[in-house]
Amino acid sequence: MYNFLFSADPKQALRMFRHLSALIALFAFTLVGIFFYYYDLYSVEKETLESILIFFWLGVLVFTFLIRSGLNKKFSDPSLTIGQLLWGTLYLLTITYLMNEWRGLMLMAYFGMLSFGFFKLKFREFMSVIMTAVLGYFLVILYIFIYEPERININLELLQLLAFTCSASIMLYTGSSIHRLRDRSKKQYVALQQAHELNKKLATTDELTGLYNRRYFMDQLAQQKALSERDGSDFVVCYFDLDHFKQINDTFGHHTGDIVLKKFSQILSTSIREIDYAARFGGEEFVCLLVNTDIENAIKITERIRESLENYNFSDIAPALHATVSIGISNFKQFNTIQETLMNADNRMYRAKQLGRNKVVYTDEDEDATL
Ligand code: GH3
Ligand code: MG
Ligand code: MG
Repeated sequence: MYNFLFSADPKQALRMFRHLSALIALFAFTLVGIFFYYYDLYSVEKETLESILIFFWLGVLVFTFLIRSGLNKKFSDPSLTIGQLLWGTLYLLTITYLMNEWRGLMLMAYFGMLSFGFFKLKFREFMSVIMTAVLGYFLVILYIFIYEPERININLELLQLLAFTCSASIMLYTGSSIHRLRDRSKKQYVALQQAHELNKKLATTDELTGLYNRRYFMDQLAQQKALSERDGSDFVVCYFDLDHFKQINDTFGHHTGDIVLKKFSQILSTSIREIDYAARFGGEEFVCLLVNTDIENAIKITERIRESLENYNFSDIAPALHATVSIGISNFKQFNTIQETLMNADNRMYRAKQLGRNKVVYTDEDEDATL
């Protein structure tokens, strides 16, 4: 039964829940309406009343069908609140017309019905619904006054309508205040979420290059160490330092230096896999963590990175500009602590500098230290 009535989509299920609440309220009104009939409060034939009730209930079931079938999503307001309220208003106006001296009772039913729009509708929408109700009521009593004056005490009716209009206006005011409040807190929530996302990003990435920052990288290293100790896999830490970068800054300007840093970051991040991590360690120094990789593969990857930068053509920025990088790489299993692995990669990078720069150093032995 639940599955039959409610969609799996939570938004649709909520719409259906609201609609069913309205149905229950309408059912209560209908019972009261029938009760009125037996108390002789109407001037209508039984068959006519039955036809009217059936007609309005069929209309209500159309809304049930629209919401359950998902056709409601085609409307700008998928909860169909205004449509349902207007249909309810028409129903209550018809009952109003049928009633005699107790007609004013129907104004109470209006309040029950309008409460469904109280939290949902914007000021203008809610005002339109209330105005339709007031105007409709006014037209009904005017019609009765003109064509069936013996059924109405117009002064009393107008007084009741005035009282209703005042109460409905207060309802409109409080409703719109609540709507504004909800709107504001919704906006604040979205802004807070955005700020939180930005904070998270700033806390983990380097602003200039978009690579991870040192702190995030160190966290990932710690995680990799734990993983490696559990499953016995190895990983490689690579240390990069751009060659004669001070000279690049001095010759071409700081701005051009920044462009080189960004370009190198791009080369770095596109040369490694999704599961690896690249970070800017500070200034013109970068690191990367190659997950589940041995030193032979790491040599191939870092050598490709070195070549890519060496061959990169910066001529659109400055014709004489060339950049190279010195790289030191160490695998975790050789040292077994993060600190030592990192320090060793850094030392090997310095050896690459000593050996003439633009090199990858992957061992501490003197012979065969570089490619
Ligand atoms: P080596 O080949 O020995 O590494 O020489 P180097 O000139 O690269 O080394 P050094 O450490 O002396 O210089 C690093 C330079 O990097 C100095 C600093 O001005 C520059 N630098 C650091 N951070 C930035 C940055 O964010 N943007 C730019 N454009 N330059 C930076
Ligand atoms: Mg440096
Ligand atoms: Mg340098």
